Amino acid sequence: MTEPAPRETVGEPLVVRTPEELRRALAGTGRVALVPTMGALHGGHRSLMRLARSRAETVVVSIFVNPLQFGPNEDLDRYPRDLPGDTLLCAEEGVDVVFAPETGTVYPLPQMVTVDAGSMGERLEGASRPGHFTGVLTVVAKLFNLVRPDLAVFGAKDAQQIALVRRMVADLDLPVEIVGAPTLRDPDGLASSSRNVYLSARERTSALALSRALRAGAEAAPGGAEAVRGAALAVLAEAAEAVPPVRLDYLALVDPATFAEAGADHRGEAVLAVAARVGATRLIDNVSVTL
Ligand code: AMP
Repeated sequence: MTEPAPRETVGEPLVVRTPEELRRALAGTGRVALVPTMGALHGGHRSLMRLARSRAETVVVSIFVNPLQFGPNEDLDRYPRDLPGDTLLCAEEGVDVVFAPETGTVYPLPQMVTVDAGSMGERLEGASRPGHFTGVLTVVAKLFNLVRPDLAVFGAKDAQQIALVRRMVADLDLPVEIVGAPTLRDPDGLASSSRNVYLSARERTSALALSRALRAGAEAAPGGAEAVRGAALAVLAEAAEAVPPVRLDYLALVDPATFAEAGADHRGEAVLAVAARVGATRLIDNVSVTL
């Protein structure tokens, strides 16, 4: 998949900053679709907005860099922010409302009560980033309560995130439909990400090993779980020797419902997920495979 071309601007979205403004903007609208984002929008976000547009009368994009989901040594302060550029992209996609609250608006008090992501939230991304999914689920629950959408669109790029959001909605009986969108890739295969702007040209070349490894793994699926892991790890072992190197955080083949490791005899759907650092940038990617 390559980046969707911008559409012609079809009118400025209403940019709102507070729950009160949001409530006024959404009064009397029909079906509402929410696309939660952290901004620095790109083609992957565009594809989510288009899916939202096809399913609802009113599309709300939230733009909020959520401090609760960043660890103390992560990139919260340098995370890219560009509200004017993001608003333009939303206008091109016919978004109706951009909800861009200040941190103090979302968290007027120190957050005491949070959503615990359970054992699924402690694996893979949760193991590398303790507390990350508590932060994600807490802000998603808050956004659901603020926007009250009929449906919300999430990307498969963050496979563990969408699995946990689905599970939260089921476990807590939240009245919102969760819609998944496939991962959008740049023409060279790298999964589109706001963090890709951190990569130098040489780092980006090294980073292509992530999607290459996943493709190699997927192609080995007829051989079973061990063959998938082996094929992907072979690509990543080579990439560890590249300049600059790809420093593997994890490669895992997991059950999509629990994110627990798929056993050697696993059959059916599985997710092959990878996380690695290239230079100072941490990248994640995944593919679905059928064993
Ligand atoms: P973020 O702004 O990175 O928090 O992402 C906001 C939403 O966009 C999440 O649901 C992501 O899974 C989704 N997303 C990010 N990158 C992509 C991509 N390359 N393809 C599809 N969805 C994506």
